[in-house]
Amino acid sequence: MSISRKINFSCRKCGHQQPLTVWDVLIVADDPEKKEELINGDLMRSKCIRCGYSTPVLYSLLYQDIARDFVVWLWLSPADPNTADEMIFMRDYQFRIVRSENELREKILIFDNGLDDRVLEICKFLLRKKPTRDRPKLEGDLFFKELRPWPEWGQAIVFELSSVPEELMLPRKTYNEMEACMLRKLPALEEVAKKWLHIDSKFAQSMVRKYG
Ligand SMILES: [Zn+2]
Repeated sequence: MSISRKINFSCRKCGHQQPLTVWDVLIVADDPEKKEELINGDLMRSKCIRCGYSTPVLYSLLYQDIARDFVVWLWLSPADPNTADEMIFMRDYQFRIVRSENELREKILIFDNGLDDRVLEICKFLLRKKPTRDRPKLEGDLFFKELRPWPEWGQAIVFELSSVPEELMLPRKTYNEMEACMLRKLPALEEVAKKWLHIDSKFAQSMVRKYG
């Protein structure tokens, strides 16, 4: 069951107070429309009914997808959450801890598309390292956006940059090759179930350093 509560939120612009629902636990099967709001950014945002100003409202939220067997915890405190209690009740889910709304959204999109977030992080790391003629260095964070049919490649993996509205694409074949290569070195996803993991740019960096 999803768990939510109402708080009073003051508009950053005019100070008007209005109620806002914040979600401690969001079970996607119970509240599919809330997932849509999370993906499009409306869930963690308050729009003032008096002046119309829209303010981001970030809070810790545990997202659970029972059909796809994954749980992502957006956790804002610097120390990791106490995860021992939650794990007892859960099956062989993939567990992830993330630190931002963008990362939470990205994890949902990755698992929804049946991709391995560890492989994608390494793909992102390599995209960053590869300078092109018109862009020697990528600014900002890179997030998985979608899989897209692409005539040249069959399918493209599309990433977007957080700093500017720009997309970067990778052939699906490159991802598949990277996956085949990494699965010889990384444990199978089934083996890392029931463990809370941070799969992010630091993870990719440590993998590339270790395996080259
Ligand atoms: Zn206002």
